[in-house]
Amino acid sequence: MIVIKFILLLALVAAPAIARRSSGMQNAGQCLLNFQTPDHIILAVQWPPGVCHTSRRRCKSSLNQFTIHGAWPNYREGSGPAFCCGQPFHESLVGEQRPQLQTKWQTLFPGSSSSFWKHEWEKHGTCAKSPMFRGQQSYFNQTLSLFDKLDLLSWLQESGITARQANDGTYDAPSFQQAIEKHINGKRIRIDCKRSRKQRESVFVGVHICYDPVTLDFTDCVVKKSSCGQLKFIAPFISRQMDESRHGAKVSKERRRI
Ligand code: AMP
Repeated sequence: MIVIKFILLLALVAAPAIARRSSGMQNAGQCLLNFQTPDHIILAVQWPPGVCHTSRRRCKSSLNQFTIHGAWPNYREGSGPAFCCGQPFHESLVGEQRPQLQTKWQTLFPGSSSSFWKHEWEKHGTCAKSPMFRGQQSYFNQTLSLFDKLDLLSWLQESGITARQANDGTYDAPSFQQAIEKHINGKRIRIDCKRSRKQRESVFVGVHICYDPVTLDFTDCVVKKSSCGQLKFIAPFISRQMDESRHGAKVSKERRRI
């Protein structure tokens, strides 16, 4: 009995370490070394009014455009490597990319744009082994160029899907998904939703679109379980009004400052 208990205890202690080794190895500085080449790149795109509607933080909810969250190397099992050993973020390398990043890769929460870009580069960009994404400048350029080819608002509109007031009806997730997938060779996307804090409704916050890391062709995303169901596609201006009525004028004044 004691032997069995000992074996069980050993398995519990050793399992996380074995799992870590299968996806990579940490060095003394805690960055990931020698990890497997990712199977695909996820382009994570945000819908700011939805992100803000479901967040407690001050947030730019009035944007009427999709924005970039990041480009994330990923494995078919569903997870991806993170914080790989590589160059730290260099502000000086942003250079000519800055105006584009400031509109398309916006910081929605208080804090500098650079700290968000730094986080995305150091957590995900350093793990993109694909030649197209290698190095900070290529990572940001390539991600911007993939994003530029997506015309998500028009694609949704073409299928009769438009952002609406928060008290207006819902869309069903499959039609939302199909409206986008038909423009990307029928490849599977993941739509992301979060529960609104007050109404506990499913609110659309963004999409994941996936690419082959070498050819950059669209590929299927791994979708284990959708977080959406019937979803609210929140319109920008109205969402801000809702926030103002919820949190009072003080918050809305602060929000206008960011
Ligand atoms: P990640 O670790 O790449 O999944 O990104 C999650 C982190 O990025 C969290 O700390 C979020 O609060 C932050 N984040 C996500 N989107 C944005 C955004 N648009 N602006 C600023 N921070 C963000």
